[in-house]
Amino acid sequence: MQKTVAVLGGGIGGLSACYHLSKSPQVSKVVVLEGSERCGGWLSSTRREDGAVFEQGPRGVRPAGAVGKNTLNMVSELGLESEVLPVTYDHVASKNRYLYVGGQLHKMPTSLGGAVQTVPPFSRPLLLSVLKEVLIKRSKEDDESVHAFVSRRLGSELADIAIDSLCRGVFAGDCRTLSVRSCFPPLYNAEKARGSIVLGMVFGSGALPTVTPSDLATRSVKESWAQWSLRRGMQMLPEALEDSFKRKGNVELHRHASVKTLNATGTGWEIKLEDGGTVKADHVISALPANSLASILPPAAQPLSQQLQEISSVTVAVVNLEYEGSVLPVTVMMGGAWFHEVFGDPEGVSKERLLERATQAVTSHLGVTAVPIWSLVALLKDCIPQYHLGHWKRIETMRTYISDHSLPLTLAGASYDGVSVNDVIFSGRTAAEKLVGIVCECECDIAY
Ligand SMILES: Cc1cc2nc3c(=O)[nH]c(=O)nc-3n(C[C@H](O)[C@H](O)[C@H](O)COP(=O)(O)OP(=O)(O)OC[C@H]3O[C@@H](n4cnc5c(N)ncnc54)[C@H](O)[C@@H]3O)c2cc1C
Repeated sequence: MQKTVAVLGGGIGGLSACYHLSKSPQVSKVVVLEGSERCGGWLSSTRREDGAVFEQGPRGVRPAGAVGKNTLNMVSELGLESEVLPVTYDHVASKNRYLYVGGQLHKMPTSLGGAVQTVPPFSRPLLLSVLKEVLIKRSKEDDESVHAFVSRRLGSELADIAIDSLCRGVFAGDCRTLSVRSCFPPLYNAEKARGSIVLGMVFGSGALPTVTPSDLATRSVKESWAQWSLRRGMQMLPEALEDSFKRKGNVELHRHASVKTLNATGTGWEIKLEDGGTVKADHVISALPANSLASILPPAAQPLSQQLQEISSVTVAVVNLEYEGSVLPVTVMMGGAWFHEVFGDPEGVSKERLLERATQAVTSHLGVTAVPIWSLVALLKDCIPQYHLGHWKRIETMRTYISDHSLPLTLAGASYDGVSVNDVIFSGRTAAEKLVGIVCECECDIAY
């Protein structure tokens, strides 16, 4: 039977779901409902007339793994190969990674040589912690904070310094409250399968999704790409997806179409929009942030709404700074799990205050005393979901509720199975393919 599917949210997750749905002959129509005036969600690039591009959201995508290949395959199908800007592992930007600890910048080791020496801010060689890890007994817990897990397996110094920074960088979150099982599934799975992160990395820790690589994805491996971006900014990706939908006969994309309520009709959904319009669909793929979905579900689905509300997100201020001459262009990201503590209520903080704080940080951390000649301040409210301890259980409970109540609803997007651009794109694909009954190339339940 042919279906009409409504995709809620035109962020990269919703657009990916639509892209894959629109390929299926079983889907007669895909209706994308995006509340704002533009698609792409957090993928947002400012392009200045002189050609400079400044990102407010994601700026680097990793090519590695099945989800990395999946994104590059889509990039290739959309004809964006010539726009890709790779950063290879031997590029200075990959080799020069610093941690700011105790008021000082410390260069991180990038070679084996560096790992066998004691490199500040660490008090012993990193290789020693890694070798000892193999001997640590596995835990029986079904989840643990990222900090507790890394402290137990690799020592508290690595947890306090390296993992703390990693969690701030990726999730803008606190490693003491984030879940290792949901934020870093490869680490959790390695311990469960092999009793050790190191052994898991060497021998593998169970079936992973497999994706056949396009020529572009193969090139990324051959050329040793660490990350990639797009010439006119990451926003090129949602723009190219939108263009591709115009060439399809079965996609309707509505902007300014904020969803107000979802009402189950017995055979599907009646979707009411804020502007008074109504859309009928046999199935809904929600690629909205969990909280937004919670607020539009019918009262009968209250247990589901309650679980969704428990997935909180943090606010981040992104400040792009441009300096005259050869000073690097600098982006400062501030806040996250500490936003309220540092700045108070996001509604009450001025752009001038954020700019001033960012400029101060660049001076104290990088020693740049020049005054920026141009800046762009963006306050991104509730932009990164936090997978706290027990997140996996919440997701399992929600999906069981949906299936037990035969709700024609699929959850996709950053709130559930990974926050990276790759994870979100893959979640859109998985939602679409599960719905139309395609057994994708995955050999197991998704485990990214
Ligand atoms: C500052 C920042 C930096 C990042 N850096 C990176 C990076 O370098 N690399 C990386 O891989 N990832 C990065 N990420 C993560 C990644 O960008 C996001 O997780 C991803 O873009 C989320 O996509 P999404 O489609 O799930 O959600 P969103 O982008 O939030 O899209 C959801 C959409 O739903 C719409 N919507 C909301 N409510 C309604 C409603 N009621 N009706 C209709 N529409 C509605 C919104 O307007 C939005 O367009 C970064 C994120 C941020 C915020």
